[in-house]
Amino acid sequence: MKNNLSNIKKAIKYLNNNECVGIPTETVYGLAANAYSDKGTLKIFKLKKRPKKNPLIVHYYNLNDLKKDCLISLKFLKLYKKFCPGPISFVLKLKRNSRISNNVTNNKKNIAVRFPRHQLTRRLLKVLKYPLAAPSANLSRKISPVSKKDVVDEFGKKIKFILDGGRSKIGVESTIVSLINKPKILRLGGIERNKINKFLINKNKKKYKIKNIVVPGQGKIHYSPEIPIRLNIKNPKKYEAFMLIKKRKISKKNFFYLSKKKNLKEAAKNLYKTLRIIKKNKFKSIAVEKIPDIGFGETINDRLIRASK
Ligand code: AMP
Ligand code: MG
Repeated sequence: MKNNLSNIKKAIKYLNNNECVGIPTETVYGLAANAYSDKGTLKIFKLKKRPKKNPLIVHYYNLNDLKKDCLISLKFLKLYKKFCPGPISFVLKLKRNSRISNNVTNNKKNIAVRFPRHQLTRRLLKVLKYPLAAPSANLSRKISPVSKKDVVDEFGKKIKFILDGGRSKIGVESTIVSLINKPKILRLGGIERNKINKFLINKNKKKYKIKNIVVPGQGKIHYSPEIPIRLNIKNPKKYEAFMLIKKRKISKKNFFYLSKKKNLKEAAKNLYKTLRIIKKNKFKSIAVEKIPDIGFGETINDRLIRASK
């Protein structure tokens, strides 16, 4: 606890100086900067090598803080009460007098926001005088980090400070819901589609297809381990890493279990970690067992399809 307090103080010091800081969230680790600062937010794009047209998600402590920058609707409030703090992001309209840096939104009038649940980051957000712009703490298009060590793997000493909050509990990015015009799921993630649909009047019944997605940054290539991936495989080749979701009678050295009991939530949590391990072990190819396209399986398949491009 004491240690946490001094680490939070360190993080505040760096953030106040317009530096980027690694922060833990329940989804993945973020690379955070003062969302009101042009200088701080610019550093995020530079460090990540992220195209400027790919807008950032801004992290708030609570509704009161959000209201300073964004316009909210009843539909938003309903979702907020049900799911926040938690692994869901919303695209909302910016207020005219909002102080959000134009770097964050790529000069647009809409903004993606989120209320992370991780206690350490909540404590940080509570004391800061500004919200945090924080995309995942990885180089653009690469695998998202789920621990402090992963962030170090990505950036080495280029980041001045990382707040260590242990392993991310959800392990995949937030679900993004746009509340501009008709509510729409823009990216699958840490909350299953069905759970969100129950709360939306215009049900998002359509199956999510990559080609329908027009948001910046949700390109076809993403989350890439830079190793070829083959999906829906029953029997892998000998030299391939094989990712599975159910225990087999005979396991081999190249088998990597995302889950042993077909638990899709557990499998999602282990996805990025496992991809990183496979990469470290220098496999030249990855085969993946068929993953049911339901609940968290949909999120896993979305990421794997992009990773395989
Ligand atoms: P991440 O890299 O996980 O922080 O995710 C950021 C993603 O949020 C972007 O790639 C976009 O898909 C989405 N996003 C951020 N801001 C907006 C916005 N104003 N409108 C639509 N999507 C957005
Ligand atoms: Mg990302």
